[in-house]
Amino acid sequence: MEFFNGKRYRTLDYEMKRLYGSKVVKLSVDGGFTCPNRVNGGGCIFCTEQGSSEFTGDHSGKRLSITQQLECQREIMSQKWQSDKYIAYFQSYTNTFAPVSVLKARYDEALATGVMGLAIATRPDCLGDDVLELLASYRCPLWVELGLQSITCHHKLNRGYPNEVYVDAAKRLRKHGIPFVTHVIFGLPWESREEMLSTVRFAAQNGTWGIKLHMLYIDRTAPLGALYQQEPFHVLTLEEYADLVTEAIAILPPNVVVHRVTGDGKRENLIAPQWSRNKRNVLNTIDKMMVQKGYVQGCKTDDTTANE
Ligand code: SF4
Repeated sequence: MEFFNGKRYRTLDYEMKRLYGSKVVKLSVDGGFTCPNRVNGGGCIFCTEQGSSEFTGDHSGKRLSITQQLECQREIMSQKWQSDKYIAYFQSYTNTFAPVSVLKARYDEALATGVMGLAIATRPDCLGDDVLELLASYRCPLWVELGLQSITCHHKLNRGYPNEVYVDAAKRLRKHGIPFVTHVIFGLPWESREEMLSTVRFAAQNGTWGIKLHMLYIDRTAPLGALYQQEPFHVLTLEEYADLVTEAIAILPPNVVVHRVTGDGKRENLIAPQWSRNKRNVLNTIDKMMVQKGYVQGCKTDDTTANE
């Protein structure tokens, strides 16, 4: 069994050190975009006021430029991490939802601050060929992040695109040699445990380079917050969540990079689950359960999850 520098799964930190020789720090940035699903369709029901991104460098309300945000984030992160390698993470809303000339100007502004690469969160229905050509033209480390969340109850989530759109985007991203990360939510009240894991299988089958696993996070500023308060439903316990994460890691091929296994949100807006406040405890519980189950990433990979 392969271990990843002591961890039982391929963390982003492990992978960045392996590829670039030292720690790479992500700096979250609000690129000033919107989201077509919020503009035209009310948005995903879990989406918060900030477009599901509470920690960008522009939470000051001052409309900082991309350069200012990155400088500000770098200052904060340099107190936490000893590293001179940074990636600008365009996190808020849909960061390919603009004409290509605008996208290029904003990505170039970020790169001009000295970051070594870009991570771009977007929707699979906002990845036209012109956008992919632009992304593929960058010679720096770059990946795209796609909010798939669930393949079985995306209508209830108001995700706003069918699964086939993800499949098509994944195919075209692979064709252009652009790695992508898939976001998955565990704990949606309409799904069984097996259905939640089926989304992980689906992402692996479609050649995802990385995965972000999140617990369903009920924020009072999201439509889901109002729904939950009207009609509360079962929210995963920490043990149930850790069980799902460990099973997901077991079925993921060992080459998939596990970017996250826990979520973050604005503490003052959190309704549930309260245990998610203690991130360290969530991570420790997952690590301990991996050991108890005797799991390491990929130990349950089979024909339904293997990727090339
Ligand atoms: S795609 Fe992202 S930004 Fe748009 S509504 Fe959904 S979660 Fe919010």
